[in-house]
Amino acid sequence: MNFDTIITALIAVISLLLGCIVLANDYKNISNRLFFAFNFSASVWISSSLVAKFLTIDTVQPFVNIGFAATSLVVYFFLMFSIAFPNSPNVYKSWWHILSVMPLIFIILSFMNLVAKATPDEGVNFKVSPGFFYIPYFLFLLSYAVASIIKLFVNYRQEKGIRKEQIFVVLLGFSIYAFLALFFSLVMPVITHNPNIYKWGIYSVIIFLVFTTYAIIERGLLNVKVIVTELAVLLVILALLVQTLSSENLGRGIINASILIIVAYGGYLIIASVKKEIAHNRQLQNLTHQLEQDKRELVDLDRMKDEFLQMATHELNTPITVIQGRLSMAIEENMCHLNDEQKKFLQPILTDTKRLAQLSKDILNVARIDQHRMKINVTEADIDSLISSIVSGFELKAKEKGNSIAYIRLNQSLPKIMIDQSKITEVLTNLISNANKFTENGKIAVTAKAKDDDMIITIGDSGVGIEKEEQKHLFEKFFQAGRFDPDNPQEQQGTGLGLFISKNIIELHGGKIQFDSAKGKGSTFYFSLPLKYKEIGISA
Ligand code: ADP
Repeated sequence: MNFDTIITALIAVISLLLGCIVLANDYKNISNRLFFAFNFSASVWISSSLVAKFLTIDTVQPFVNIGFAATSLVVYFFLMFSIAFPNSPNVYKSWWHILSVMPLIFIILSFMNLVAKATPDEGVNFKVSPGFFYIPYFLFLLSYAVASIIKLFVNYRQEKGIRKEQIFVVLLGFSIYAFLALFFSLVMPVITHNPNIYKWGIYSVIIFLVFTTYAIIERGLLNVKVIVTELAVLLVILALLVQTLSSENLGRGIINASILIIVAYGGYLIIASVKKEIAHNRQLQNLTHQLEQDKRELVDLDRMKDEFLQMATHELNTPITVIQGRLSMAIEENMCHLNDEQKKFLQPILTDTKRLAQLSKDILNVARIDQHRMKINVTEADIDSLISSIVSGFELKAKEKGNSIAYIRLNQSLPKIMIDQSKITEVLTNLISNANKFTENGKIAVTAKAKDDDMIITIGDSGVGIEKEEQKHLFEKFFQAGRFDPDNPQEQQGTGLGLFISKNIIELHGGKIQFDSAKGKGSTFYFSLPLKYKEIGISA
């Protein structure tokens, strides 16, 4: 027996065995039955070609016919399998029978020697030549194979999780197998006149077997683990039973029977635990998949929420700016000649409008940062006078809280630097406003100095400080230390966006922002800005 024969016989046996295992797993399940029928037909096809090898021109024709007839069944059963799998309705649908008409016709035609004929050949004993219905037969196989692939693909699109993976593996295996089998078994022998090439069609079954076995073992298509465990337990019990029955005396018999009972009980427990483990794994896989899906949906919802928020804020921003502008002209620039009482009455509206304007500005900034759209527009700036004017702008507010505020220049003169003035103003305003917000009857000091290649600016306060635990989250979006602390009402006023935006602005300039803080002792925020601005590749 040569190598080819051994391999071919092995493929036929493995194919049949695989079908049997699947059937044994649940013989009532329609897709299992169809899968068995498919494998059975494949092994008939392979066996017929194996037998044909040993026959002569006078005896081979029936086996050629069996081969072609079996192949009709291979594609038919696979198509049926792809329809029934994976939902496996345990009822046959009447229209399924229509699909059996074509294979039946071609089985009859095969046995009438009209699909292929064994003809004498010089080199080898005989060769298989195309019959009158060879091309229609080929088209029939092709259309059934393509229909199966399409159906499996539809199943694949509809399914989720582990089932999806299983179908993908089976789909891939079958597609490769169908293509190679049709090509090598039906097209190549006719084109090349080399009957030997046929064997590659048979070998391609290996691909399908490998893929399906993978789907079974690795992807849990079937509970092979349970089957193997059951088989092993059964074998041990059988061996012990034989030993018990052939015990030489009663005493030995009782001992053997006891061992048998203990092993049988142990085996039962093992099988039960394997089943339980499999059920758990399934459940876990389903849950994981559900979680992944939920996560995807949440990410989508989050994106939609962001887009809505951004759009809504944009729409709100325009009227807020107009209201703020008009109120500011009326109250602060006194354009409407209001008396003090009228100004006092309108002042809270202006204050709240400013807060609203700041909030909408922050939200839009955060959206820009998240979408990597925030840009800075640098120009040469006198940082010294910028800090000075911001600090003096805060003097009144500081005084209201009993705080002193001072700007301390640590260098005689500060060099001019390239910055986005409005954005650095935002950072300074946020840091000084925080210092004032979290300090009562204390001190706030702003310092600036040029050191090495950087300008270092610090904003220190003697306020409440920040808990060690909370410090690592400070620059996170929406984070507010002690947010739900009822003793700290000022905490609830902000949005938790200021530091997040400030950090991004400073990093866009190529600088760094940090802080030191101790609970009850105050905080110092410091940031650096490079003296020589270099455009950097990041867009935060
Ligand atoms: P907001 O001030 O709008 O809440 P920020 O991002 O500016 O948002 O600040 C986040 C949180 O950091 C604040 O809520 C506060 O808990 C804490 N924080 C910031 N600056 C100080 C400070 N100088 N002293 C104490 N806590 C501070």
